[in-house]
Amino acid sequence: MKCTICKTGETSPGRVTVTLQRGESIVVVKDVPAEVCDDCGEYYLNDAVADRVYALADEALERHHEVEIVRYAA
Ligand SMILES: [Zn+2]
Repeated sequence: MKCTICKTGETSPGRVTVTLQRGESIVVVKDVPAEVCDDCGEYYLNDAVADRVYALADEALERHHEVEIVRYAA
């Protein structure tokens, strides 16, 4: 699909690292499947993947570390 951020790039399937910040905590989720813009690098997650990423982030936040790094696993 066409990138909605830069409006010139095309997206293609790839893997990204998603960083979420909640309050004082940062959760980094690696190897997340996404559509990635070949021009600006913006990425798009489908709904199922986004739900999983948020679930992983919530689990990680329960450990109350300042930074948590988790690997996406379907
Ligand atoms: Zn783009």
